[in-house]
Amino acid sequence: MTNPQLPHPLSTMKQGVLESIIEKVPFGFSLLNADYVLESANDAWLKIIEKSKNEVIGKNIFDVFPEMKDVLKPILENVKETKEPFYSPEYSWKLMRKGVLENVFFNFVYHPIYSDYGVFQHFACVVVEVTDVVDTKNKIKTEEERLRLATESSHTATWDLNLQNFEIVHSSYLSKIFGYADSDEISHKQMRGHLIEYDRVNIVEKAYKRALKTGKYIYEARIIDKQGNLKWIFTNGKIFRDEDNQPTRMLGVMQDITERKTNEILLQESHHQLNTALDASKLGRFDMDYETQHKYNFSPRFLSILGYDSETERIDGTVFENHIHPKYVQIRNDALKQAKSTGDLFYQAKIILRDGKVKLVEIYGRLLESFEGSKPYVSGTMRDITDLKEFEQKIRESEQKYRFLADAIPQIVWIGENDGRLTYFNQATMDYSGKDYNTFLEALGWLDIVHPDEREENTRLWMHSVKHKTPFSFEHRFRNKNNEYRWFLSRAAPQLDEFGNVTKWVGTSTDIDDMKKVDQHKNDFIKIANHELKTPVTTIKGYVQLLKKMRGNSDDQFLVNSLNTIENQINKLNLLMGELLDISRIESGQLPLYKNEFSLLKLVTETIEDIKASEQSHQINFELSHPSDIEVYADKDRITQVLNNLLTNAIKYSPSKKKVNVKLFIDGNCAVVSVEDFGIGMDQDELTKIFDRFYRVSGEDENTFPGFGIGLFIVKDIMDRHNGKIWAESEKNKGSKFFFSLPLFEH
Ligand code: ADP
Repeated sequence: MTNPQLPHPLSTMKQGVLESIIEKVPFGFSLLNADYVLESANDAWLKIIEKSKNEVIGKNIFDVFPEMKDVLKPILENVKETKEPFYSPEYSWKLMRKGVLENVFFNFVYHPIYSDYGVFQHFACVVVEVTDVVDTKNKIKTEEERLRLATESSHTATWDLNLQNFEIVHSSYLSKIFGYADSDEISHKQMRGHLIEYDRVNIVEKAYKRALKTGKYIYEARIIDKQGNLKWIFTNGKIFRDEDNQPTRMLGVMQDITERKTNEILLQESHHQLNTALDASKLGRFDMDYETQHKYNFSPRFLSILGYDSETERIDGTVFENHIHPKYVQIRNDALKQAKSTGDLFYQAKIILRDGKVKLVEIYGRLLESFEGSKPYVSGTMRDITDLKEFEQKIRESEQKYRFLADAIPQIVWIGENDGRLTYFNQATMDYSGKDYNTFLEALGWLDIVHPDEREENTRLWMHSVKHKTPFSFEHRFRNKNNEYRWFLSRAAPQLDEFGNVTKWVGTSTDIDDMKKVDQHKNDFIKIANHELKTPVTTIKGYVQLLKKMRGNSDDQFLVNSLNTIENQINKLNLLMGELLDISRIESGQLPLYKNEFSLLKLVTETIEDIKASEQSHQINFELSHPSDIEVYADKDRITQVLNNLLTNAIKYSPSKKKVNVKLFIDGNCAVVSVEDFGIGMDQDELTKIFDRFYRVSGEDENTFPGFGIGLFIVKDIMDRHNGKIWAESEKNKGSKFFFSLPLFEH
């Protein structure tokens, strides 16, 4: 048995050496005996607790640190009992140092020391202050937390990928991006599974291959998140390698850029639409740095105007400046200056292409002031207006030519706008009236030279034409520079665009004064001749009738025939004289109507009877398809004249067919009379003209059937002035059917 109290001989021997080493080590060391009395302590230990040797050696530790007793005593007892050392890393301790209570951290070890015989002897107490380490750790933790907050609030997720086993550690925000709950951990494989297949193959995998070479991992790709939403993600990472240069980890961030991308795509689409529109309108597009005038973002059209091929040639921002014609540089600079105040950039400039060709271009742009730190820039368009200018020039020349022509002719020519205002008069207008151009554009304007008697009707007819877009025709007197009036015939026709809208009225006024005078003379002559002829003709007619009465039953057939022929021809002469007189009266507006209420039925039957008496060649059938009498309010003689004319024409133009049908019927509130023959007829073209003055169907029949071509003209005039109508149907070689209608008389 060895005495357990005796120290080990080796330890006694080395005691001094050990103590001096312990004294110098940079960690605190103290020895407590089984009764918790401090037997020794090195300087470092004393420094930590800030006590002197005298204060602690030989004292019970719980007297030195009474505040520790509750915690420390059970620990030490446990060490003694279990023989297991006690470790307390980063033990937080409040310690009074230099009069201040500090929060300090220690790594404590209480190690039991036994004698060779297994008897407990001491607690070896080792203390290392780790306050700095803990502080640093805490700082790192705070920094990390800050980073986490920063990344999350900037909608950035962080991740750390192990490139050996592809395990990934990520922030909670990454789960959110993929549509998971914040607390869900998602694997690298899961993440890949959310990528759109096309993007995985074409974007992500390529980016990874690139990263293995460059160390930088960066891409934008689409994912379908857990909820099925399409999202855009942006990933930016960095590869870390081990000492053998093998890639081990990749650290990075990930952002949800769906919103930006959607906007970008929308922007691209609207850019695309804009470009298509610009292309269609042959406009080149560009953006320009306002300060440097460097152009960028130019469209292919912009370059092709400047003579470049956007596909094959590399072009820089000064491309436009290199081509502007030197004479236009100042114009361009002035326009730029002006843009500063108005915001609009507009100018036209000549440019010289590489092949020496000169073009004229029009630049239009908008100056956009700087925003979000960008510089002010112009967003603009360029249009090639070379052809346009040449075209304008040609139009100007041709306009000048026509103006010159218009001025050279003696006839008055004028142009009106679609609202009826007259805005152009040729030189002849000024020469005739002695007035200057502007007086025609002011106040009364051209009406000033119109005779006051015709002004009202003139305005009425003109405005009617303007309103209905129908041709205008009017005879009126214009006052000349000697204050004399002359008759003019004014005509105007509307010029219509492809939508049928009036663009202009082009009018002429022709001096018809001499013609009018000749006409007047002619009318006067006809009147006088008529009057002078009337007496002899009436006398001859009277004598013929007398002779017929006396010798009508004579056996002398020659005499009887001769008398009939004379009477017939005298009747025709009478009719012709009447027509000639009528026409001159119509033209001078002097054909009076004497209206009465009468029976149209009676008129028709009587006229047929009269005709039958003198023209036995044809059979005239009459059909009344109305049971009672038909009354009208009209000029009886004139209506007789109308029917007479239609009947004699029917007979005249059906020499080989001997039948004429006359009908009287009611249509609506009109009485209608039709005269039908089965003679030579007319084609449609002729039919439209027969009511014109002096119109006669031309051709072989022209001379076969004598006449002046005025009968139907007079008939038409009579019907018009009765508010009635006259029209015809006809077929060549089949016959014609003429109709006239009159409003029924209402009692
Ligand atoms: P005119 O008979 O004196 O020539 P009108 O004014 O009465 O003059 O007729 C004009 C033209 O119309 C005639 O020349 C003739 O060609 C045509 N016309 C008139 N009535 C008939 C008819 N019933 N059948 C065929 N043609 C006719």
